Amino acid sequence: MTVTLGPLRIDPVTELDHWPFAPAELFPAVTPEELGDHRGDLDLSITTYLVRTPDQTVLLDAGNGNAKERPVLLAHHQFDTPYLDRLAAVGVVPEDVDVVVATHLHPDHCGGFTRLVDGAWDPTFPRARYLIPADEYAWLQEVHASAPEDGVAADLARTFEDSVLPVVEAGLVELIDLPYEVTDGVTLRSFPGHTSAHLIAELSGGGRHALASGDVLHHPFQFSNLALAQGGDADPAVAAESRRRLCELAVERDALVLPAHFGPGRIDRDGAGFRYRPIPWGGA
Ligand SMILES: [Zn+2]
Repeated sequence: MTVTLGPLRIDPVTELDHWPFAPAELFPAVTPEELGDHRGDLDLSITTYLVRTPDQTVLLDAGNGNAKERPVLLAHHQFDTPYLDRLAAVGVVPEDVDVVVATHLHPDHCGGFTRLVDGAWDPTFPRARYLIPADEYAWLQEVHASAPEDGVAADLARTFEDSVLPVVEAGLVELIDLPYEVTDGVTLRSFPGHTSAHLIAELSGGGRHALASGDVLHHPFQFSNLALAQGGDADPAVAAESRRRLCELAVERDALVLPAHFGPGRIDRDGAGFRYRPIPWGGA
């Protein structure tokens, strides 16, 4: 399951193997042509990536986390997964993690920043620096400050309160500007649109490259129509532009793409557009 790029070792750590969504729930404008032969729900996963460099252990995305109250976003409500056991299975306990980076502050990416211990939300990774783009932090802080009583905003405010604020109060958060070099071979770059300061991690070593792409794309359907917006895209036009930039960059670098919600792969040009070539972990 491990991918090595020179001195970098990358392991996927999957929180949820199956996370079903009705196609129109995920992509409100999806057409029957785009769905092709597909019937039924789209099966996503929630996958995070552990990157070990010679001197840093970096976690890219932290998953949804267990026990979070999300009464509006029910797909994110009250998880009970063995995520930390899966992290242990690749040889890492929470105290080993030096850096935690969420691609963005949606609940399925930053909820795992904290865990419930004796009724309180404690930082899951007590020694880590949690890196958050200043713009992304400002956005979620503003949602929280507006005290929304219902709708998706209410669950985003809950996310700020139970997953972000506790790591801030523990003094673990560093607000950053992008691009940002975490350590040799790990650089964070701005790919906005899904949220205002969504980022990807560019991983390089030994002349090889990978891109941990978060939610720039949610499903391989989007490669044939980069304009297909996901229901949660904050700015669909900017998100579509980021999808194109990601494809261009992946082709240019011959990079392995590591998405948050579907399997790894490489991107090929296909006429004026792009095509996704899934790669099983063993072949990556
Ligand atoms: Zn997501």
